[in-house]
Amino acid sequence: MIEGTTDPGLPGAPAAARSVPVLPLHGPVRPLGLPQVSITGGLWGRLQSVNATATLAHCESWMERLGWLANFDRVADGTTSPDRPGWSFSDSEVYKLLEALSWEAARTGDPEAETAIKRLTARVGRAQDPDGYLNTCFGHGGQQPRYSDLEMGHELYNTGHLLQAAVARLRTAGEDDLVRVARRAADHVCRTFGEDGLRGICGHPEIEVGLAEFGRALGEDRYVEQARLFLERRGHGTLRDIPLGRAYFQDDIPIRRADVWRGHAVRALYLTAAAVDVAVERGDDDLLRAVERQWERSVARRTYITGGMGSRHQDEGFGEDWELPPDRAYCETCAGVASIMVSWRLYLATADTRYTDLIERTLYNVIATSPSPDGTAFFYANPLHQREPGRPADPDAVSPRAEGGTRAAWFDVSCCPTNVARTLASLDAYLATTDDDGLQIHQYAPCAISAELPDGRRVAADVETGYPETGTVRVRIAADEPSPWTLSLRVPAWAAGATVTEDGRTRPVEPGTLAIRRTFRAGEVVTLDLPMGPRFTWPDPRIDAVRGCVAVERGPDVLCVESLDLPATGESQAGESGAGGSLAEGTAVGGSHTGGSHVGGSHVGGLDALVIDPLAGPRADGGGARVRARRRATAAGPWPYTTAASPQPDAVAGDGDAAWFDVPLRPYRTWAQRGPSSMRVWLPVSPGPCHRSEGVLGT
Ligand SMILES: [Zn+2]
Repeated sequence: MIEGTTDPGLPGAPAAARSVPVLPLHGPVRPLGLPQVSITGGLWGRLQSVNATATLAHCESWMERLGWLANFDRVADGTTSPDRPGWSFSDSEVYKLLEALSWEAARTGDPEAETAIKRLTARVGRAQDPDGYLNTCFGHGGQQPRYSDLEMGHELYNTGHLLQAAVARLRTAGEDDLVRVARRAADHVCRTFGEDGLRGICGHPEIEVGLAEFGRALGEDRYVEQARLFLERRGHGTLRDIPLGRAYFQDDIPIRRADVWRGHAVRALYLTAAAVDVAVERGDDDLLRAVERQWERSVARRTYITGGMGSRHQDEGFGEDWELPPDRAYCETCAGVASIMVSWRLYLATADTRYTDLIERTLYNVIATSPSPDGTAFFYANPLHQREPGRPADPDAVSPRAEGGTRAAWFDVSCCPTNVARTLASLDAYLATTDDDGLQIHQYAPCAISAELPDGRRVAADVETGYPETGTVRVRIAADEPSPWTLSLRVPAWAAGATVTEDGRTRPVEPGTLAIRRTFRAGEVVTLDLPMGPRFTWPDPRIDAVRGCVAVERGPDVLCVESLDLPATGESQAGESGAGGSLAEGTAVGGSHTGGSHVGGSHVGGLDALVIDPLAGPRADGGGARVRARRRATAAGPWPYTTAASPQPDAVAGDGDAAWFDVPLRPYRTWAQRGPSSMRVWLPVSPGPCHRSEGVLGT
């Protein structure tokens, strides 16, 4: 299916075209995509499989049911009216689904994906106006005129997603109807908004990143140039001011002068991804350095431990430095997708593994968190602290809200499900790269990699691993190559104490890049062992919202405590050391599902009263961990503040070893999979005396 799809005969297509979402013409490394890299199992293989068998059809059926697909038919049939269903950006969901289907058709050769692409493309194509304009919300009978609401109308945003879908199709199947539709739409945009056209920009960036890659994929620079024009126009008050301010859509400061990401997180990140593309294509080091500076400060001060971005619900936006409340964390799933888009482009431009480190964090703790195990419900917001268990979501209803504590089948604003779908379907393209001398492996999943270096040397390896359950990654060389080459493995920043074993010899390796240059023979194995013991992670004290708390991480996973796993109140006083049940059982245990009960006149809560012993380190427990905890005695008073020098809240319920019990933590990405639950990532440390008690800990 994939063979012959890197068609050098495509008009203007670079001869070295690969099936990847991002392919810069310049850079220290080149991404590998299908068919050079193929995930063969593990966590990501399972997620890809569920995406293919459940999520893609789920998305199409919801869009059909809600009339978002029929919007295209109405334009084609001339039956549009002011009561069009869906938001102005609903077209983009169809395009993101088309992108996901395009990667999926290439990944597995699934004939149903191929059929769906043709079915959807036909409906989309019929709605295109003769001059290339394509939008179901503006410009037709009963609708507002074209480009009459650039601030919030999303017309160019929609087109950007159409172009990304076309890139996926072009690089996996060659030029077809979808690509031709996209080309007419892109030409219309260039004619309308070119150097001599309207000096407008779209309130929601996306057209820029779509145009830049479409230009690369076709080898037609004028599309990249239009992306550059849009970028340079932004930041000068080009759009009307709105109550949220122009920072909301990054029209407050020119991108090359900004120090940090601000405003709506997905907008900021899509724009930044395009800026990297334009900087690389134009050799614009000033712009690239500006983006790196923004990345550094935003990651250092405005990013959650999960890799999630966006602290404010009011504008789905970044907060100020250190404004990272766990319970009000927005961390939209789409912002996770967009963050990966930015970091991957920066990696390809610089070969700096800090970017692939952040991609790993975001993949495991944002992307993998969103979909339910059956692929038919999704988290939109990804808070790090859920105070009240959510209500079970109705699988037959559209969720009106982004939050809620449980995964929902579909949303009124349903950007996240299709964004997860296209990311999972194209994930093979984010695992490995080559440079002039070898192969770099960035993310660890069971996979097969086979590529040719520019001088013809063959580099091939099969990766065998149970990561992240285990930290052993075996890289089995899969081809004889008489000349030496360099195998590079990313050693994550958290992996102090990692080792590598080759030829029966084991040696320590530092976080960063492990590079081995020699001659490899087929069948040889290089084994990277990453330390998977759970670890405490402390926040910068300037993050006020989690001061006095600690998180537990294990490998790439951030862990969390769920109320489902707490012992029923009262058990701890009886000296129960275990919360009951092992992590492997995956069953609901404990009784405090609703967050607390009254015991002995004081409110001995569930999750909200939990404090942990910081002196007893987290203990390994399968894919999770266990910590030593007790409950704070919280007075049920009329006023939650006190002038007392030693405030009552410092007291603990019970005394001595009997007050302590053992609490299991699980990977954050699995939270609420067993049913509604309250949850927290950041755990308050006990203010009272803490002591190691081997009897309780049982170590
Ligand atoms: Zn979203």
